[in-house]
Amino acid sequence: EKLNEGLSKTKESVLQKITRMVVGKSKVDEDLLDELEEVLISSDVGVATTIKIIERIEARVSRDKYVSASELDRILREEIKDLLKENRNGIDGDFDIPEKAKPYVIMVVGVNGVGKTTTIGKLAHKFKSAGKSVLLGAGDTFRAAAIDQLEIWADRVGIDLIKQKMGADPASVAFDTISSAKANNIDVVIIDTAGRLHNKTNLMNELTKIKNVMRKIVPDAPHEVLLVLDGSTGQNAFEQAKQFTLATEVNALAVTKLDGTAKGGVVIGISDQFKIPVKYIGIGEGIEDLQVFDREAFVDSLFG
Ligand code: GDP
Repeated sequence: EKLNEGLSKTKESVLQKITRMVVGKSKVDEDLLDELEEVLISSDVGVATTIKIIERIEARVSRDKYVSASELDRILREEIKDLLKENRNGIDGDFDIPEKAKPYVIMVVGVNGVGKTTTIGKLAHKFKSAGKSVLLGAGDTFRAAAIDQLEIWADRVGIDLIKQKMGADPASVAFDTISSAKANNIDVVIIDTAGRLHNKTNLMNELTKIKNVMRKIVPDAPHEVLLVLDGSTGQNAFEQAKQFTLATEVNALAVTKLDGTAKGGVVIGISDQFKIPVKYIGIGEGIEDLQVFDREAFVDSLFG
């Protein structure tokens, strides 16, 4: 329900275009596929991924000889779901974390303004509601506001935050946070980092340093490097994904602000191009407005 509502803008635009497209058409042919290609590209799916999807549908049409136009939306949904599945998108269960990893360490990266703090807060709330103990680390020491905002979220969720002064070494904050988590038998640690992209080498060095320090206490940390992307920025989100994946090993994505945008298709393109699973999606500003990405439900809400 919430998902349908959240994705309504993208849904309206994509679905209307597809519906309009097939009116009066009997079968799926080259022309219809050309139109579909345009719809997908204009829905921010991205050119490379769109071509891949069209090729899959083409292969299916040539295999089945005749595919009626009314079946196009179903076939499209199936192909996109398969594509997302191949990229390991969508996780089973609800905000699960592996039992073995304790603390389970999530390092959150992303540029300012994408919804990093909000996502950390929402995520902490989900874990806490699932009965886990959670500790936050204010590793974005570059901006005083980042520390303050994270503190507000920690209070709202009712959990502790480890912080130092603005300008402190982020690796030192990470070290303190993980030490404290270890000492207090905490289940999940979420560490914020500064999101400055202007200097790739600096970013890489900073993230590497944070990781190395974490590993002094928890050898396989961070278990999750979560890149937060603003879905409403469409192609900018692609560019940020490119920069961050060059700077560090990212193994999960959170795409925010999918409510109020018609660019929801970006989720499909990004996960396909970077082969990194979308794990969470943000569909509002409230504490409950974070969902585990469910590829079936997502595709059905966009195209169904
Ligand atoms: P940060 O600078 O990356 O830490 O970004 P913030 O977490 O402070 O978020 C920036 C703005 O985006 C805030 O006004 C948030 O309320 C808003 N925001 C974050 N996630 C979402 C979302 O999923 N949907 C909507 N509509 N707004 C969001």
